[in-house]
Amino acid sequence: LNYYNPLNEWILNKTGGLGIREYQLEKIKEVLRFVNENSVFYGKLYKGFNIDDISTFESFEKLPFITADDLSAFGPQMLCVPQNEIERIVTLQTSGTASKPKRVFFTAADQELTIDFFSVGMRCLIDESDNVMILLPYKTPGSVGDLLKLGLERIGCGVFPYGLVDYYSDVCEFIFENKITSLVGNPVQVLKLAELAKLYGLKIRLDSILLSTDYVPDAIVKRLSNLWKCKVYEHYGMTEMCFGGGVYCQHQTGYHMREADLYFEVISDKGDTLPDGEFGEVVFTTLTRTGMPLIRYRTGDYGRFIKERCTCCPELRLMEKLRRRIDGGVTIGNRKFFISDFDEMMFSCDRIVDYGVEIWNETLSFKIKTTNNIMQEKTAQKELVKRKILTGGANGAEN
Ligand SMILES: [Zn+2]
Repeated sequence: LNYYNPLNEWILNKTGGLGIREYQLEKIKEVLRFVNENSVFYGKLYKGFNIDDISTFESFEKLPFITADDLSAFGPQMLCVPQNEIERIVTLQTSGTASKPKRVFFTAADQELTIDFFSVGMRCLIDESDNVMILLPYKTPGSVGDLLKLGLERIGCGVFPYGLVDYYSDVCEFIFENKITSLVGNPVQVLKLAELAKLYGLKIRLDSILLSTDYVPDAIVKRLSNLWKCKVYEHYGMTEMCFGGGVYCQHQTGYHMREADLYFEVISDKGDTLPDGEFGEVVFTTLTRTGMPLIRYRTGDYGRFIKERCTCCPELRLMEKLRRRIDGGVTIGNRKFFISDFDEMMFSCDRIVDYGVEIWNETLSFKIKTTNNIMQEKTAQKELVKRKILTGGANGAEN
């Protein structure tokens, strides 16, 4: 149990000797003054508040929240630096039909903070002897895969950026031939690879997998650790956090959050900040970003901090694995189901690797994909990608 967590040391070093809460409060005061002076949006939002008077968490908790809708409507007004200092803009399509896309702006320094976090966070699962394959989009500078690649290069391990999986069989062979020991990707794609490798009888020896997406089904984690006999870690992040938010350590107790750069709150539906242990919506404040700081940004994720601390870092809070969004879900009979409920149900069946679900008059219909389907899909996918190349379209969504 004497496990050393590099993330812990990294965070505590950044606080410059202050306790983590003290440090966060100092950073909050700093960022509030900064946005109030430099952004049109925050200047208006905090009219009627004396920002200089905010000296406690209680007074901070009286400030209004901002939402994804604010980001769509007023994004450019949240900027705190001149446009020419912006290194990357990520455009996110929102699910609402009428709303404008969200655009999130980052400076080079904002991106550097994430590269640094990735390079330390990845040390929770790998070291310089590993060969890490990145199954996330990486071709656009400043994309999640690109920042991860830059972070991994600092560790000095083998780095194999690939992008989202196109041909499953080719990726399986690549893993085998390059002696990949660690994969970073999304759960369904990695599951398909594992099932296919088993079908081909490829002896792939992985030490670790890091899964990153909105929600990682427990059923997939269980199947992956059985199929590949390796540890499966989870990461929580979103574009608005500049991709990195929190990661599992070797004890797999929950997400160890990036607390030196982000201050997290969990709020009730009335907007009160809840104590650890209680469920609500996850809200975060950027403490160190300058391009477009987000203050009390509502993520739409439903979760909680657990009361217990991890033995690796008793100073820091632990966020429980996230299972769903605040909204969404369907009511059938007298029970509400979320996508995560369907995920657990479907992926606990050994042969299912993917599925779609339709709901009609309280009747669910599932379209399932099995391992055999991936093999059949392969030819179809090759054709599809060829066509995309011929017509000049991009292969896979970049983010
Ligand atoms: Zn830990």
